[in-house]
Amino acid sequence: MERKMEESAVRDGDTAGSEAGGEDALVGNVTKLTVSPPGYSGAPRKGHLVFDACFESGNLGRVDYISEFEFDLFIRPDTCNPRFRVWFNFTVENVRETQRVIFNVVNFSKTKSLYRDGMSPVVKSTSRPKWQRLPAKNVYYYRCPDHRRNYVMSFAFCFDREDDVYQFAYCYPYTYSRLQHYLASLERRNLPYLQREQLGLSVQQRRLDLLTITNSEAPDHLSPDREKKLVFLTSRVHPGESPASFICQGVIDFLVSQHPVAQILRDHVIFKIVPMLNPDGVYLGNYRCSLMGFDLNRHWQDPSPWAHPTLHAVKQLIMQMNQDPRVSLEFYIDVHAHSTMLNGFMYGNVFEDEERVQRQAVFPRLLCQNAPDFSFSNTSFNRDVVKAGTGRRFLGGLLDDTSYCYTLEVSFYSYMPAGSNAPVPYTEETYMKLGRNVARTFLDYYKLSNLIKDNRPTHIQSSEVKSPTGNGKDNGVGRDAVDRQREKSQGVRH
Ligand SMILES: [Zn+2]
Repeated sequence: MERKMEESAVRDGDTAGSEAGGEDALVGNVTKLTVSPPGYSGAPRKGHLVFDACFESGNLGRVDYISEFEFDLFIRPDTCNPRFRVWFNFTVENVRETQRVIFNVVNFSKTKSLYRDGMSPVVKSTSRPKWQRLPAKNVYYYRCPDHRRNYVMSFAFCFDREDDVYQFAYCYPYTYSRLQHYLASLERRNLPYLQREQLGLSVQQRRLDLLTITNSEAPDHLSPDREKKLVFLTSRVHPGESPASFICQGVIDFLVSQHPVAQILRDHVIFKIVPMLNPDGVYLGNYRCSLMGFDLNRHWQDPSPWAHPTLHAVKQLIMQMNQDPRVSLEFYIDVHAHSTMLNGFMYGNVFEDEERVQRQAVFPRLLCQNAPDFSFSNTSFNRDVVKAGTGRRFLGGLLDDTSYCYTLEVSFYSYMPAGSNAPVPYTEETYMKLGRNVARTFLDYYKLSNLIKDNRPTHIQSSEVKSPTGNGKDNGVGRDAVDRQREKSQGVRH
């Protein structure tokens, strides 16, 4: 029997947010772990659940049998950094039809969570391969006296097909392999305005991809004395923030499409995109760190070529472009997902110069008009000391005052549409749609700043890329007031 259950059944749930404390045994994922009742020694029966997380982006460190109907689940901490325990992703099989269970995820490292507001884990199964969120009414989030008053998320589930393998995750997974397949399919299209390069390798020798999207044949690009505007976008520095990858893919899908806005943008602007800044962390199923346990978004000031090679490579490239007189790096946007707030929103830097502050607010304001899920009121500008090593803060200090550095955040859970109080849970599609809206907002921005004076029609009914908001005036201002208060008090980390 391959149970890894501790017979002592010590419920050693860690104190939320602290160091490992008793979790140090959780170094690997469970591998086809059959959980039979204590004392049972025969061959596993139907209904003795088999748990597995030994696959890409998988995460489950331990399972405790509580009763026939109830199991305690332990998230495997980030590799080399036991402080972070949020992302989970595992399969369950060998179920009985109509078997009802309660799973308790008992060792989250965070206390504040959108579970209190209706968020729920996602599930799929062999016969229903599309991820969906569990009904919120089956999910409970509470302080549990049995786990040192740690916060526990419990969910009830009823298995319905004996032959299905069920998979549960914190949010819609987006793996390194998925990205590789997507980029390979883009390359096969041989688009003249798309270039894919390997910018470097991770510690475990995974690809750090860089895409360049621009029409280098356009008159704007051919004039040698004209400075080229450059937009730089990165995502997945935090590996558990999978919604960032859907946004990033939405940006890319839009920019390579035949949509007239995309064509105009390619004629005037160079887009450089690093879709996965932390490929090892994503592969390993970490929430926040790299293989070696570093939060890469705290190491921009001095990344090491051996300890933080992907970050080092991206920083080198940005420094190089910043020196290049032929290009003007105007935007740097780093995409994240947020575990306690709703909507899409941005963080920017604060400056003494009021005019610069106003200029910096322009892009998020325009995005708010294009994306019904983007909130300008949630957008904030700060200079917290703890954020000093982030890409936004570091590059904000490095680049000149005509550049804008933002963190783009999106909720792991939902958004409030204009004029509504009912949160709409994000799907893979609506995350991608936010990405498309981010991309097309650059045209509004560059028209406003007079770089682009193109009067080509920019509205089409395209089957390939849906025009995200037909009326374009649904700017969500009404909605912003609704969620204004809730986030003010919430600690933020990105
Ligand atoms: Zn983040």
